[in-house]
Amino acid sequence: MTRGAPVAIVGAGPTGSTAALGLAARGIRSVVLDRWPEVYPQPRAVHLDDEVYRVLARLGLGDDLARLTRPTRGLRLVDADLRCLAQLDRDGVSPATGHPRANLFDQPVLDAVLRERLRATPEVTLLAGHEVTAVEQVAADRVEVRHRTGPHAEEEVVEAGYVLGCDGANSLVRTSAGARLLDLGFEQRWLVIDVETSAELDQWDGVHQVCDSRRAATYMRVGTTRHRWELQLLDHEDAADLATLDAVAPLLRAWLRDVDPAELTLVRATGYTFRAAVADRWRSGRLFVLGDAAHLTPPFIGQGMGAGIRDADNLAWKLAGVVDGSLPYEVLESYEPERSAHARSMIGLARAVGITMTSGGPTGDVTRRALLPLLPRLPYLRGLAVDSATPPLVATPWVHRRRGDRLAGRLCPQVVHGRPTLDAEVGPRWALVSAVAPSPSCVAALTERRVAVVETGSRPELDTWLRDGRARAALVRPDRTVLTSGDDVAALVATATALIAPQPGEVPA
Ligand SMILES: Cc1cc2nc3c(=O)[nH]c(=O)nc-3n(C[C@H](O)[C@H](O)[C@H](O)COP(=O)(O)OP(=O)(O)OC[C@H]3O[C@@H](n4cnc5c(N)ncnc54)[C@H](O)[C@@H]3O)c2cc1C
Repeated sequence: MTRGAPVAIVGAGPTGSTAALGLAARGIRSVVLDRWPEVYPQPRAVHLDDEVYRVLARLGLGDDLARLTRPTRGLRLVDADLRCLAQLDRDGVSPATGHPRANLFDQPVLDAVLRERLRATPEVTLLAGHEVTAVEQVAADRVEVRHRTGPHAEEEVVEAGYVLGCDGANSLVRTSAGARLLDLGFEQRWLVIDVETSAELDQWDGVHQVCDSRRAATYMRVGTTRHRWELQLLDHEDAADLATLDAVAPLLRAWLRDVDPAELTLVRATGYTFRAAVADRWRSGRLFVLGDAAHLTPPFIGQGMGAGIRDADNLAWKLAGVVDGSLPYEVLESYEPERSAHARSMIGLARAVGITMTSGGPTGDVTRRALLPLLPRLPYLRGLAVDSATPPLVATPWVHRRRGDRLAGRLCPQVVHGRPTLDAEVGPRWALVSAVAPSPSCVAALTERRVAVVETGSRPELDTWLRDGRARAALVRPDRTVLTSGDDVAALVATATALIAPQPGEVPA
């Protein structure tokens, strides 16, 4: 059987699901293929920040996230005896996004919600239980995706204009695109332990990082009864020998205190090799790689899944614009530079945290005990640790980071009168956020291109944001990144009209 769709997406993990929903929000159909009939059941990601929360909320998952995530208080750096060396509070709601800065959750629960949403979205055809066996660009404008439901099943084909490889660390699409992973120089073996218990462990309600050269570790309470430990494996240890509650209980003793291990139920204890790597190219013609297919990050700052969701958010509006004719084909060239620089900087941070926790042997432990308590007292470093905003995107033809433009590449905030409402108001469109009313001809040109006009007069937070950025207006992309800002509103409108083609018909809801 042969199916056709503008876009085929290989992999229905968080990245592929976000990409499909982002395309659907703009009226673009896709076929999503995943080799497993149901979601991967093992817990992996447990943390997402407010920016990633915002992406998913924009796709209509806000109520689901409020139900299935748990805001956390921040980060505590502790020594081998679990004594607090430094505490970096990251509680509360971000004034920019209006969402909690740090959120804990169980990935299979989120994956299941995303899958349910795919099934309920008319623009998405989900082929679950279909393994992709080959991806080939067979013509200038056509890619063939071969797939089957089992080793003896007949091969089927999806013919698509574009293929998004969201197929995880061992990506077939990456190989088909002639890309490979570049090692960024980090490899450690860790044991990941998930436990259910109704016993009260009575720990501080945030993420604990054990900074110990002998055995670094992370602990956090993920849900009311769910707890996660990640422990560095020692050279002589084999994860296979640590797969039972009896085997792992001694490793958890300091955390359990008076709680009897018999009160715990082991969800799983699995070995992972944490790596840092990035694909040497993220695109070949009409093939793209996103998520774990494009980058691997040690989970110390909980940003791996988030990076994939950011990739999908970055590419979905560009690809939708090319497919519906509102954007030039060249916009697709900006995906890799924008996303790879951002992903690399987050991987660098995760790597630095991993090395800080573990390096230097006993001397390193002494240094950590001396220096880490100073961290909360250094305003710059504390600011970095507490602020959940991630770095701005690099300059591309779709991010004009000229001198004096303080907002380009950064996210436009969405809080209005204390509530996160801008995204709902603007929907999947571009926006001109302006402190001055654009002329009627500017408004007409923007409306023809489905660009929302948001005047900040009755929106004090946005007005302050523009003033702090020394601008009277900002042109905001559908992923809420500022393309450019400045005082000359007509010039911003001219930028918009040069990049975006007029669009007939209704804006998709
Ligand atoms: C222990 C651990 C802790 C982590 N903690 C965090 C955290 O706190 N925060 C965070 O943001 N990230 C975290 N991560 C990372 C996060 O789990 C991954 O980055 C995320 O799952 C990647 O999503 P993805 O959709 O790109 O890939 P995946 O989730 O791997 O999904 C890929 C999908 O592609 C499908 N697929 C693969 N090949 C084919 C094929 N040939 N045909 C059809 N389908 C195919 C697979 O079945 C799968 O469903 C953690 C990871 C681990 C291991």
